[in-house]
Amino acid sequence: MTQTGIDNLAKEQRVFEPPAELAASANVKADEYDRAAADRLAFWGEQAGRLTWDTPFTDVLDWTNPPFAKWFVGGKLNVAYNCVDRHVENGLGDKVAIHFVGEPGDTRDLTYAQLKDEVCKAANAITELGIEAGDRVAIYLPMIPEAVVAMLACARLGAVHTVVFGGFSSDALASRVEDCEAKLVITADGGYRRGVGSALKPAVDEAIAKLGDASPVENVLVVRRTGQEVAFDQNIDVWWHELVDESSTEHEPEAFDAEHPLYVMYTSGTTGKPKGILHTSGGYLTQCAYTFHAVFDHKPDTDVFWCTADVGWVTGHSYIVYGPTANAATQVLYEGTPDSPHKGRWWEIIQDKKVTLFYTAPTAIRTFMKWGDDIPAEFDLSTLRILGSVGESINPEAYVWYRKNIGGDRTPIVDTWWQTETGAHMLSPLPGVTAAKPGSAMGPLPGISAEVVDDAGHPVGNGEGGYLVLTEPWPAMLRTIWGDDQRFKDTYWARFPNMYFAGDGAKKDEDGAIWLLGRVDDVMNVSGHRLSTTEIESALVSHPTVAEAAVVGATDDTTGQAVVAFVILRESAAESTDEHIATLRNHVAKEIGPIAKPRSIMVVQELPKTRSGKIMRRLLRDVAENREVGDATTLADSSVMDLITAGMKKPAADQE
Ligand code: ATP
Ligand code: MG
Repeated sequence: MTQTGIDNLAKEQRVFEPPAELAASANVKADEYDRAAADRLAFWGEQAGRLTWDTPFTDVLDWTNPPFAKWFVGGKLNVAYNCVDRHVENGLGDKVAIHFVGEPGDTRDLTYAQLKDEVCKAANAITELGIEAGDRVAIYLPMIPEAVVAMLACARLGAVHTVVFGGFSSDALASRVEDCEAKLVITADGGYRRGVGSALKPAVDEAIAKLGDASPVENVLVVRRTGQEVAFDQNIDVWWHELVDESSTEHEPEAFDAEHPLYVMYTSGTTGKPKGILHTSGGYLTQCAYTFHAVFDHKPDTDVFWCTADVGWVTGHSYIVYGPTANAATQVLYEGTPDSPHKGRWWEIIQDKKVTLFYTAPTAIRTFMKWGDDIPAEFDLSTLRILGSVGESINPEAYVWYRKNIGGDRTPIVDTWWQTETGAHMLSPLPGVTAAKPGSAMGPLPGISAEVVDDAGHPVGNGEGGYLVLTEPWPAMLRTIWGDDQRFKDTYWARFPNMYFAGDGAKKDEDGAIWLLGRVDDVMNVSGHRLSTTEIESALVSHPTVAEAAVVGATDDTTGQAVVAFVILRESAAESTDEHIATLRNHVAKEIGPIAKPRSIMVVQELPKTRSGKIMRRLLRDVAENREVGDATTLADSSVMDLITAGMKKPAADQE
């Protein structure tokens, strides 16, 4: 008997071919897959040629001590030089690197020449604060150009940055500062969110106070963004506008080893305590540069890119800071929320800045679905040519909505599967090559080796579900968990011998395309069937009244576990009635089978999400099983759980 990890229930018939014109002019064509497969290491060696190396590498990969990889052995480079200086040297100094849009409406364009000056000044300033190569610097900033500048300045010095999302609490900041022993924190007085200046500096002060004598922080460099009043300790606090603005624009970049640490990024904590993921220089930048070029089909002369992620998330690292700048891209950086001051803000920015490549998350797309089609319809989105999605599986319904209402039914969608740990895109359609199916990340990119395996680690057949694994090392792979090699081995390399296990369930459809099915930890066991969250949630979202859905397994006397669903309705839907709930339950049964029919469905206003927009199902499981709700510190909005539990106080009656 083949043991398959997860049942395959959903069927999807829709396919979208690449537009002919895009296919003809695409940066990457179909032959690249075979070329990369024929000699994977030679392929990555060639991609490393996208970078400028101070000292060439002698070997592409050293994998003699797995799972500890060394990529581009012996090579030396400066990451910031590659992202900024060389473009200026190549005559692109006047090209806009960043179109900044502040939430209050202020705008600022930075050319590559200006970005270079800013990065050099910041590098000189942090050197003056005693930061040297290898030191750690925590960055706790809003989405303002200084965030990009600070990261690149660290990279220039070989200092290791750890960016902490600006919405995190002082506790989250303190634990990260402590874990990586950051000597310097770069922050701002505050940032704008929903029309108000939301303070940041006090959280830094609190974090340092909390750590007390154990605090490794020697200085706090403070950007003035909102002008709000902040406490200032002359012994450690320094204003950015006093120190950085007065520093020299001359700074000689030093070349570092390809394996020199670049940053530590803590995972978003959807499943548990965040892990400090270590990324290094040459391999990481190579894969960011290549995937940005290939997956977004980036054309340097004409494209305007916009990734809506926060820099405090890995997507902001790879596809705001490193991938785009390594490719000399022009991009939009937006400070605020999508509904401030109105619900069409993003579409207005796309119209104003003539964005051509747009990258966002399914959670945002479902929110726009909820708000209604008429909002994007008011704006001219005709410049868009490729849309991207990242963070979770995109429900087929949300995909089709995105393509139609944002992409004018012409743009391909690249559904990019990757993780903090993988550093860069791993699975994705290629926009000029792949006939894409809505909801599927399709398959590994050229040079990447992935499989779906069963419990015994054997590849599953088409039409079967299992576990997504990576079978060969890749350049942007994590090198370890900061300070904990053993946890690195145990977490990722122990489940299946010689394979990296990502923690995600997946299936191959009848044509061999890969579909992500959600976290293995979230799989529900109903009467011996292993059900994925993704398929049931997508079935719910395919009902015209539903915008978002989350399902969890709750203990059940008869079936072992039962499916319990939480849904957010579209604004166009009427108040929910018992009859409507019954309709939704039957809809799931009809779409993917009676086994998946939820035992109960609760209508909620919001779902518990991490800062990167991921649903924290373990908290919903606590609610569904009437337990005390667990650790919610990485939630974007901690009041959401109170609302949901309050709603649950009415007996969670079995709706059979
Ligand atoms: P933690 O590991 O601390 O629980 P996290 O896994 O949420 O946090 P990230 O690295 O930000 O932290 O998220 C990576 C995960 O996001 C993947 O393992 C996968 O579950 C999900 N994911 C990302 N992109 C996609 C996609 N295109 N399709 C399906 N799932 C995706
Ligand atoms: Mg993870």
